[in-house]
Amino acid sequence: MSVLVYIENWDGKFKKSSFELVSYAHAIAAQTGGLTVAVSIGEVSSSELEKLAKYGADKVLLVNGDVVKNLDSAVYAKALSAAAQANNCEVVVLGNSNTAKGIAPRIAARLRAGLASGVNHLPESVRPFVVRKNVFNGKAIGFQQINSAVKVLTLAQNSFETKENPVAFVVESFDAGLQTADMKITVQSAEKVTDKLLLGDAEIVVSGGRGMKASANWAPLEELATVLGAATACSRPVSDEGWRRHEEHVGQTGKIIAPNLYFALGISGAIQHLAGVSSSKVIVAVNTDPEAPIFEAADYGIIGDLKEVLPKMLEEAKKFKASL
Ligand SMILES: Cc1cc2nc3c(=O)[nH]c(=O)nc-3n(C[C@H](O)[C@H](O)[C@H](O)COP(=O)(O)OP(=O)(O)OC[C@H]3O[C@@H](n4cnc5c(N)ncnc54)[C@H](O)[C@@H]3O)c2cc1C
Repeated sequence: MSVLVYIENWDGKFKKSSFELVSYAHAIAAQTGGLTVAVSIGEVSSSELEKLAKYGADKVLLVNGDVVKNLDSAVYAKALSAAAQANNCEVVVLGNSNTAKGIAPRIAARLRAGLASGVNHLPESVRPFVVRKNVFNGKAIGFQQINSAVKVLTLAQNSFETKENPVAFVVESFDAGLQTADMKITVQSAEKVTDKLLLGDAEIVVSGGRGMKASANWAPLEELATVLGAATACSRPVSDEGWRRHEEHVGQTGKIIAPNLYFALGISGAIQHLAGVSSSKVIVAVNTDPEAPIFEAADYGIIGDLKEVLPKMLEEAKKFKASL
């Protein structure tokens, strides 16, 4: 049972999450005794593609051309479905990004496949094919059996260890038979309104809560995020107060994120907040209250006032950046 994995690129570059996906696909292929076939869409250099072989992609397929220049989920789904069929792949793995969320169900419809989104473990078994995922905002674990011949999975971010499994680098250009008529949308123009990282894509997130006291105090938090190359986030009361935009609100009723590093600054750690961030790999909390529940979820905690701690964190982050 071979495994096809779609590897997104960001301006021609892969991220750590890309290698996590290849490692995951490779591990399933090892369980099933098949090959790992990675598909990359759009302009990506050969040296970048070669990195996929380092994490276990037996074959890298490159889909390129005018039709895939702009993201059209229907076109990308057609290309990936064709690649899966041409390579006899019975498992198709994608990330859990906004892009993949638009593509995965379309692949499932094309290939008449069962879809499990947000899985966070290797399949419990491959015959029958049973996957595991968090349900009810992480309060329970669900097991889902996929009965169709082809299975489509999206992998929750940060749920699988990146592991090097070097294999020979084999890259092929794949002709998915795409035509202009396949394009269901035409992007007429795209203008960047902000250079800020998208919350769901960020590997580091700096988040502020009511302990930040007022919207006027956000400048050092923003600066820390810029220095670290991080996205900014906030707790719900902060966005309810109008201190920050609602898109930044994380938690049960906001975005669910799983960065490598999450800074919780002046956030108490209510269960509804943790529901959105508890899958973060490392949590660093700063709070004046040593009894704040956030310290139970945190890997590192600083008991202190943000007025003093935040400028020091910023200073250290700048020194660290300068030393690189
Ligand atoms: C149905 C429902 C859904 C919800 N969904 C969400 C959600 O999606 N996301 C979410 O975040 N919340 C959600 N909430 C709200 C949640 O219950 C909490 O009220 C909220 O998370 C608290 O936000 P906070 O930690 O910023 O504020 P607070 O609970 O007020 O905590 C502020 C913290 O800052 C600390 N502090 C104060 N001053 C300083 C200082 N100078 N330096 C350092 N620390 C300081 C305090 O000790 C305190 O721990 C939901 C609630 C309900 C009922």
